[in-house]
Amino acid sequence: EWVEFNQFFNFIIDRFELSKSQNVNFRRLLPQTDLFVEIDTDKMTQVIDNIISNALKYSPDGGDIYFEISVLEKYFKVMITDEGMGISPKNVKRIFDRFYRADRARSRAMGGTGLGLAISREMIVAHGGEIWAESEEGKGTTIFFTLPFELQEGGEWD
Ligand code: ATP
Ligand code: MG
Repeated sequence: EWVEFNQFFNFIIDRFELSKSQNVNFRRLLPQTDLFVEIDTDKMTQVIDNIISNALKYSPDGGDIYFEISVLEKYFKVMITDEGMGISPKNVKRIFDRFYRADRARSRAMGGTGLGLAISREMIVAHGGEIWAESEEGKGTTIFFTLPFELQEGGEWD
């Protein structure tokens, strides 16, 4: 299904912003450019839901979550940044592994299965993109993913 990604992304962010119980501020920095993508909207919703749920789960009271998109030539890059406790450098690559959960005690208290990001990675790769994380302990985490896009629905005219 063809969708304009900014609109699609905003709609998901709105849903979380309206239903969240935490005192966390949402900040959006999205481009004006139309970004048309042909995606499985259910699966992409699952990917974004999981990243936002994680960001909310680990955000401190009064923290900010930033939603940004930067447009490259053939791809755009989505960034979701929280101000939570972060992930240690040795663990940050492993968060996309199946059943991986940093700090068992903490994770048990937080709930979840540790499958969310592993599924997200599969779905992003299936859509021709990449996903990775950067994190600093005590400061926060950014999840990045890329997707190929077109400027017009249905692809480019030559
Ligand atoms: P599930 O998504 O299946 O309910 P989960 O959230 O624990 O469970 P993932 O979404 O795959 O699983 O995340 C894996 C682990 O990565 C988490 O348990 C947590 O330790 C760490 N993690 C993910 N996102 C963040 C984040 N924003 N800040 C800190 N740690 C994170
Ligand atoms: Mg999760």
